[in-house]
Amino acid sequence: MAKKTIRDVDVDVAGCRVLVRVDFNVPLTDAGEVADDTRIRGALPTIEYLREHGARLILTSHLGRPRGEPKEELRLNSVAARLSQLIDAPVRKVDRLTGPEVSEAADSLQAGEVLLLENCRFDPRETKNDPELARELCRLADLYVNDAFGAAHRAHATTAGVASCLPAVSGFLMQSELDALQGLVDSPQHPFVAVLGGAKVTDKIGVIERFLDLADQILIGGAMCFIFFKAQGLDVGASRVEDEAGIETARRALEKASNSDCELVLPRDLVVADRFAEDAEARVVGVGDIPQGWMGLDIGPETADEYERRILDAAQVFWNGPMGVFEMDRFAEGTRGIARAMAESRALTVVGGGDSVAAVQQLGLAERMGHVSTGGGASLELIEGAELPGVAALEDR
Ligand code: ADP
Ligand code: MG
Repeated sequence: MAKKTIRDVDVDVAGCRVLVRVDFNVPLTDAGEVADDTRIRGALPTIEYLREHGARLILTSHLGRPRGEPKEELRLNSVAARLSQLIDAPVRKVDRLTGPEVSEAADSLQAGEVLLLENCRFDPRETKNDPELARELCRLADLYVNDAFGAAHRAHATTAGVASCLPAVSGFLMQSELDALQGLVDSPQHPFVAVLGGAKVTDKIGVIERFLDLADQILIGGAMCFIFFKAQGLDVGASRVEDEAGIETARRALEKASNSDCELVLPRDLVVADRFAEDAEARVVGVGDIPQGWMGLDIGPETADEYERRILDAAQVFWNGPMGVFEMDRFAEGTRGIARAMAESRALTVVGGGDSVAAVQQLGLAERMGHVSTGGGASLELIEGAELPGVAALEDR
């Protein structure tokens, strides 16, 4: 069901106090500066639209995992400074999420002005979706806008709770994420190729079942492939196997794939190394031939060629998870090949997942993707068919 956006609200936002949940969960440098402002820039269309229409903006976000208590290094001060540069206007920052200081700051906002609240996860009530916290936040504002797609799979006070006491609509970033990802699932173009890799296998294995119904081909890489090899009874040496329990799921997926029209494609060759290090001894081997004690750190060149060809022939591609340990240049070739093929392909291309997106950005190819998702976990849950609490809480159009 399509959700109302800030363009669809009945009230005039001019003069309105608007509470906007943004995803400013950015990487920081050791000195505490914003290392990558992609997520802040992602929220600019919503922020600028509201400012231009005379709204009084109250922004809330989490940063990192403070686990319910204030952590000096996770304050949003440097985020406020960066946002201020980007919008070329002052951003007032308070050191609390709620309380008298915050109410006063919110009340004194003029049209077009911006207030950033402190890291919402400093308050232990945030992740518990505490109704009292939601009510305190609601009293600050007249309208709630959720633009934090990356947090939409969490039912927290700032992502879901506040929607129970304020009119609630989506921001533009949220809207573009929902349009792109829902489009893949609801009206897929064929051939639909899903590329899955990375290391968080437990989080991702569930989505494979869904892709077996939706996609024409699933290409597996990264550490994900080793549970499949184990499920097939192959020796994977010292390769990373996150969770033995995934092997059973992999076995089921292989069985389901053999009875379905979807092809589940595993690597044929791998780049293996004798250690997990940039200067390890490395060579290319067939999948059954990993030497004792060695580990697979990238897909091999034959596999990469095959995956690239399939991506070039696709009508729609979804990619989550790097094909290898791309942080080490020697094991980045598989990931680079996928990113390049997606950039060249005429297919509708969507990339999700923190590390996969980082890889695409490092290569300077983000502009050449159809859609780059800001939400790794949220995008997978949406594709799996789960109702995201942060989306469900918004008003239907
Ligand atoms: P994403 O953030 O895109 O969802 P993940 O977080 O699941 O992806 O996985 C990214 C990580 O997976 C990277 O740090 C990468 O080094 C690691 N990785 C990929 N392939 C392998 C492998 N063969 N062995 C060990 N780690 C791997
Ligand atoms: Mg990751």
